[in-house]
Amino acid sequence: MHAARLWSVRHARGLSRAYGLFARLAPRLAPLARLLGRAGAEAAVRPIERAAKQFLFDCRMCGDCVLSATGMACPMNCAKQLRNGPCGGVRPDGGCEVIPQMRCVWLDAEEGRKRIAPLAVAPDAAIAPLDHTRSGRSSWVPVIFPEAAPSAAPRTDPGIAHPREAFERACADRFVVTVELAPPDSAAPAGFLARAARFRGLVDAINVTDGAGGNCHMSSVAASALLAAHGDIPIYQVACRDRNRIAIQGDLLGAAALGVQNILCLTGDDVSQGDQPEAKPVFDLDAVTLLGIARRMREQGAFASGRKLEAAPNLFLGATANPFAPPFHERVANLERKVDAGARFIQTQFCFDLERMAAFMREARARGLHQRCTIIAGVGTLGSAAALRRMAQRVPGVHVPEAVLQRIGQAADQRAEGKRVAIETIQALARIEGVGGVHLMGYRNETVLAEIIAESGLRGRVQAPAAGTTG
Ligand code: SF4
Repeated sequence: MHAARLWSVRHARGLSRAYGLFARLAPRLAPLARLLGRAGAEAAVRPIERAAKQFLFDCRMCGDCVLSATGMACPMNCAKQLRNGPCGGVRPDGGCEVIPQMRCVWLDAEEGRKRIAPLAVAPDAAIAPLDHTRSGRSSWVPVIFPEAAPSAAPRTDPGIAHPREAFERACADRFVVTVELAPPDSAAPAGFLARAARFRGLVDAINVTDGAGGNCHMSSVAASALLAAHGDIPIYQVACRDRNRIAIQGDLLGAAALGVQNILCLTGDDVSQGDQPEAKPVFDLDAVTLLGIARRMREQGAFASGRKLEAAPNLFLGATANPFAPPFHERVANLERKVDAGARFIQTQFCFDLERMAAFMREARARGLHQRCTIIAGVGTLGSAAALRRMAQRVPGVHVPEAVLQRIGQAADQRAEGKRVAIETIQALARIEGVGGVHLMGYRNETVLAEIIAESGLRGRVQAPAAGTTG
């Protein structure tokens, strides 16, 4: 079956033409379909469609077929069922983050798209979230027998205007600094607030992770609200892995009501990476479709269903990018899709490879993306070369060049050398045109992160660690 799937990608151009021909000729079958009625047409067509598409594409009959937009590679075969991939976890050899022995479906999609339109440079439009009510139904019958689609009047008004909040203003005005904090494994907030307090005066906002790595901690929305209530500026990370669109929209409204406005939209790490791999992953949305829904809530004051909100949330939306994972060319197209969907700030995966970051930024600048969003480069360090090597091996999407590992590994004080590498990286990133800030990451490594920010000259002095905090 997998061989047939790869054959379909290799012959994407021919298959796409056959699909185009079918779409043109299908309306001629409408009189026959009308005789059978919709249910009769469905019953006649579905078994033929299922057999053909299962053989050619490993089709799951989602009823919402987008094959011609995904290079004849069915996105239902993506382990996270992304509609707008790839995720940031593609392995260096092109293997899937979740099923390493399978090639990432979005590498196939890119290959298929190139065969269909070799010279295309613009990213494809974002694909809408899956309509689960169509599961198991034919995608061919609606082509033969078009359903009356509700007419969406084109919007001419600019949408609801919101004042710019602190982090949004900082992104417009200066080179920003953000830091990532994991919420605690605790119902007591004091330790978490003390860890955050260490960054007062050093950062513009604090990211609060959402079950990073598939591990459970205090909820990101609650931890973000705690920070907001204590005068810090949180960036609430929202992963699509654990909640469906109904739960997420409710959380976005709740977050805004509690003073949390900066939202980082993520697809999320798979549950297989965490300490509860037996959990059910949701992935009802992906980062791009989540951005589209959140933007609609902000600008049109409406849920995804179109139902009106009484008060629209003032959300400043962001997303992630991984310039360091294949397929490299697709990474900037993916960034553009996120910006088109509403992302106004972008935070990247750890940058240990400045050449690759510079190449990514060259392409982003060529498309004008640095002027449409603030691109914040990820920087971090761990205590030793061995710890860095383990992270590169275990965390999908993290790339640490061998030269960096050797430099840190050969130093007498590996911790200090790791810090020096991070500071030099920050200074080099600040010189790359279009990089709008840095995002510091390092699990429970707050003291070192605060020192890096201060010593790189980005901000003021480091605060003394509060008693009882880790670092
Ligand atoms: S690597 Fe990510 S995008 Fe690619 S198939 Fe696996 S889960 Fe999907």
